Amino acid sequence: MARVQIDEFFCKGCGLCTEVCPCDILALNVEVITDKGYHPAYCTDESQCIGCANCATMCPDVAITVWR
Ligand code: SF4
Ligand code: SF4
Repeated sequence: MARVQIDEFFCKGCGLCTEVCPCDILALNVEVITDKGYHPAYCTDESQCIGCANCATMCPDVAITVWR
């Protein structure tokens, strides 16, 4: 089973990762504001992650690590 880890310290809430996930399980968390003032991305259902790493490839701030 794959696992996706998003480091909120590096995330700037651009939302690019949410647009490339084929499983549509990434979203920006509007209930959280990071120290830098952003809504960070989070995984809504890790059990659906297929480990494709599209999100990690797309992230301009290298905030995502995918384990598989
Ligand atoms: S690894 Fe692929 S399926 Fe998993 S969260 Fe990232 S884009 Fe979505
Ligand atoms: S692409 Fe990277 S910086 Fe942009 S929202 Fe996703 S994790 Fe955050």
